[in-house]
Amino acid sequence: CRMIRSPELEQTIISALARTCPRDRYPICFVHLRISPHQIDWNRHPAKTEIYLQDLPFWQEQINVAIEKALQLGAEVMPESPLSERVGKLLKASEKKGVYHTRKSDESSGDREVGLMELKAIAQLHQTYIVAEHPNGIWLIEQHIAHERILYEQLCDAWELVSLETPIILNNLSAAQLEQLEGIGIEVDSFGEQLWAARKAPLLLAQRDDCLDALIELSKGGDLEAAQVATACRSAIRNGTPLSLVEMQDLLERWQKTRNPRTCPHGRPIFLNLEETALARFFRRHWVIGKSHRI
Ligand SMILES: [Zn+2]
Repeated sequence: CRMIRSPELEQTIISALARTCPRDRYPICFVHLRISPHQIDWNRHPAKTEIYLQDLPFWQEQINVAIEKALQLGAEVMPESPLSERVGKLLKASEKKGVYHTRKSDESSGDREVGLMELKAIAQLHQTYIVAEHPNGIWLIEQHIAHERILYEQLCDAWELVSLETPIILNNLSAAQLEQLEGIGIEVDSFGEQLWAARKAPLLLAQRDDCLDALIELSKGGDLEAAQVATACRSAIRNGTPLSLVEMQDLLERWQKTRNPRTCPHGRPIFLNLEETALARFFRRHWVIGKSHRI
């Protein structure tokens, strides 16, 4: 038995979880690979603490597929106590103050399935936060990133490009920018000296006044996933936009149906949970029962 590092596989795991893990949090991930010994080359590091793996892209793909499947598991299929004592110790050692919610019996509504909460929009604060009431307390949901999460998942399901009525003219594109646009499915034709015409754009951007800026942003790099994040961010309701109760309720319901409602694609948390029990504790409600306030 020997401990080794595999920076490539580490990176694969981190990238596979980048759009679902909160920023600056790192997953603990157990991956069991059955690899024939002759596929491992030990001559990478004098202390043999790193290896070369033959057919690395194949193993990276296996890990990606496994993580994607694991992310789709709902809480209902998780065993009540999935962790052996050894694994439990490992989790504790790896992050002393971290709290890992592995049991569905957890009482806090913040840890219950977001999709199952009965949320009722009751107000908007600072034209940025939706105040939503539920039977055990209230949530504050940031409107921009909740909407961004909805749009991002739609774009992941279908990166839909539509024809533009009037092509958008781009100028001074570098070879790298042209290649980047092509890579995400946006074809551009040469339109004269240092000019190009884009005849298609992502559906969400096509009707926007800033479609040109958006295409330039997309041409500046990143993979398809980065383009989806940028497009979702640009198209999502801005903070500072007034919303009616009906609009807020609709947004909440669509957000609750997303696969990963907890974090936005940049890794920020989407909601803050204020549990009624925590409020009662804060207001020292137990001090006054039956006395001056009668509640
Ligand atoms: Zn954003």
